[in-house]
Amino acid sequence: MVVELISVGTEILMGNIVNTNAAYLAEQVNSMGLVCYYQTTVGDNEQRLTETVKTAMGRANILILSGGLGPTKDDLTKEVCAKVCGKELVEDKAWRQTIKEYFTKRGLKLTDNNWKQAMVPEGSIVLDNPNGTAPGIIIETEKNTLILLPGPPNELIPMFKASVVPYLQKKQEAIMVSQTVKIVGIGESAAAEMIDDLYEKQSNPTIATYAKVGEVHLRVTAKAEDEKKARKLLKPVIKELKNRFNEHIFTTDPEVTLEQSIVDLLVDNALTVSTVESCSGGLVAGRLINVPGVSEVFKMGHITYSNKAKRKIIGVKRSTLEKYGAVSEQVAAEMAKGGFGLSKADVTVSVTGIAGPDGGSETKPVGLVYIGCCVKGKTTVKEYHFSGNRAKIREATVAAALVLMRECVLEYISEVTFGKKEKR
Ligand code: ATP
Ligand code: MG
Repeated sequence: MVVELISVGTEILMGNIVNTNAAYLAEQVNSMGLVCYYQTTVGDNEQRLTETVKTAMGRANILILSGGLGPTKDDLTKEVCAKVCGKELVEDKAWRQTIKEYFTKRGLKLTDNNWKQAMVPEGSIVLDNPNGTAPGIIIETEKNTLILLPGPPNELIPMFKASVVPYLQKKQEAIMVSQTVKIVGIGESAAAEMIDDLYEKQSNPTIATYAKVGEVHLRVTAKAEDEKKARKLLKPVIKELKNRFNEHIFTTDPEVTLEQSIVDLLVDNALTVSTVESCSGGLVAGRLINVPGVSEVFKMGHITYSNKAKRKIIGVKRSTLEKYGAVSEQVAAEMAKGGFGLSKADVTVSVTGIAGPDGGSETKPVGLVYIGCCVKGKTTVKEYHFSGNRAKIREATVAAALVLMRECVLEYISEVTFGKKEKR
């Protein structure tokens, strides 16, 4: 089934708002196994919207429109779609009641134009909107289905999840179920090479690789009559990926982030953590602290940007700084060890590097970063070369620090459990 997305709104056309609805809907639609060949943005203009809808109806089965369902005159989506489909607008009694209750509950004054939102094309399906007064609308014609959703993302997203996904799933003969295997420590092309043979023979399930900052996600998608059958198809492929990538996999849960998996690892093994950061400026601590429940393991974080702070607070030696420079393996090691001693945490991560755009030299170019990790007194330091602007370098640095930290913690755990490699 082919889906086409139409975003309605002059604000989007003018660049005043970013079209996040199209990105969200496109991703959702794709993950359901529906194809989308065109996305259009059109202003609040009756004639151009009519043309857009007619064109889309000629080349797609399902149209998903967002925006223009509000109570004001420039909100035209419903009127235009009804007209193109040859449907009259009729009042939906139940929705009139919903509007009334919505306003009464909030102590808001109803104006006449609010009743406009109770008008729906005859015979259409009305979708509940717990966060607003515009209902979603599904118009079915002989050849097409038009799904009209409100523009505000806080209304569109819940409505899509609650009402549109089940509707679309029912329409499909087969359903798609995906599972994501998230890995670190292996680049995208190396990961792809490791599963080259699986790619070649894939038809159902299929595997797709996605490169994220410091991570690679492998999305495995199976198509079947129902969810149970699809999950059965996924199982052996996921098992094979676990065999091939074993400790590089940090989760198979789409909701779990790298930092969440690290915090879980620390909590499970009763290990505490601290950070000493220079060029990352607290971002490593920030990502860890994003995780609810981190207080159980996070002890303290230092941002020691100047040499003086590195010396006075963390205890990096003046001679080390003078001999090797602040961005060096030796300083990263002393930062990690110093932070470890100061915080009395089990694990301390340190970061020192040149984020640019200035400050680089021939021997120490912009993007050179050293990351250290001290676990129970044993320190590891790695050298990295990142590219891009300051923000990109810092983002890559933070991801690398989390990855190194995870590696060192896993190594420590495997050492204490009789040197056995932990099998996941
Ligand atoms: P309302 O009842 O608020 O008027 P509506 O369904 O008529 O809702 P629009 O008037 O088109 O929707 O847009 C309302 C607001 O929703 C916009 O100001 C914008 O903040 C947000 N919005 C609309 N379309 C999009 C989009 N494609 N992506 C992200 N946000 C959007
Ligand atoms: Mg509007």
